Amino acid sequence: MVQSSLCQLNDLSSRMGLDAILFTDLNNIRYLCGFTGTDGALILSGGRTIFLTDSRYLEQAKTQVRTDDQRQYQAKIEGVAEALAALGIIRIGFEAEHMTCAALGRYRERCGDSVEWVELGDDLRKLRCIKGQSELAAIEEATRIAQLGFEEVLPLIRPGAVESDIARELEFALRRLGGQEKSFDFIVASGPRGALPHGVASDRVIQDGELVTIDFGTVSDGFHSDETVTVAVGEVSPELQNIYDIVLEAHDRAAAALRPGVQLRDLDAIARDYITEKGYGEYFGHGLGHGVGLDVHEAPVLSPRSSDVAAENMVVTIEPGIYIPGLGGVRIEDMYVVTSTGARVLTRIPKNFKVLS
Ligand code: ZN
Ligand code: ZN
Repeated sequence: MVQSSLCQLNDLSSRMGLDAILFTDLNNIRYLCGFTGTDGALILSGGRTIFLTDSRYLEQAKTQVRTDDQRQYQAKIEGVAEALAALGIIRIGFEAEHMTCAALGRYRERCGDSVEWVELGDDLRKLRCIKGQSELAAIEEATRIAQLGFEEVLPLIRPGAVESDIARELEFALRRLGGQEKSFDFIVASGPRGALPHGVASDRVIQDGELVTIDFGTVSDGFHSDETVTVAVGEVSPELQNIYDIVLEAHDRAAAALRPGVQLRDLDAIARDYITEKGYGEYFGHGLGHGVGLDVHEAPVLSPRSSDVAAENMVVTIEPGIYIPGLGGVRIEDMYVVTSTGARVLTRIPKNFKVLS
């Protein structure tokens, strides 16, 4: 159990008058007690922790899970309900963002009307924001594999190549180099398709003089990498070159301002204001970035509406973009870890290279 998180959760529990908190999200469970299987539940009550799983994972849990107690269930909801009843739980907090309505209904039915279910939303959102050393090491390993894989595939990005072939080759290279899985369906968006911020690779053939935006990532020890490279195939038009330069400058300005204590909406504004000043504000429709960890998108949020503040050992992306319908687009994305005085870039592929011959 992560001690600082345990204290934080005990505080939350007493502040909200809860008898227990139930975790069913597998990434939260992994973070809190180390379990990497696909079926389990974690109950935190009165400073004690109880892990429950099915028979397949009992042996694994014995060596992997750090909790006060471990139990086996035949059926999850019934098993959890029994454990809660044995503890005399009346008021239980749960992860509102991860529990389905159907599951909540079944828990209510099993536990009876005397048990009160309390939604924990924003209270848990920041649980995994601050990374420990082993988590940072896993993320760095994912970014190292990402660099090697991308370098292998880079020569394939040329006129006549098909977007989906590049995505497949990249996925294969990352797996071969030790990545556990892809972080998400890779975006390979060439020419006018670059105007789609989430243009998953298609059968389009890349032409000379186009930009190609590639957003990809891999997973190491459960932790994700996420980065975007925009490359030019041959000589691109002065307008595309100009857009590229604006996005790179917006990215670099935001990155230079990242340090503990910075309001992340202010960081978003640094990039956004610059892009707006250059006349392309309306073409930057998404937020500046997000936290990365056991989920590829997690807290904190970097956007105009964010109330999150940067703190040491947060891992975030900075990914401004400009997307012009009919013309194309540019996004440049890197991952950073916030240090005591600033931020250190985690992704290794340089973003200042421009034209491939
Ligand atoms: Zn990305
Ligand atoms: Zn991202």
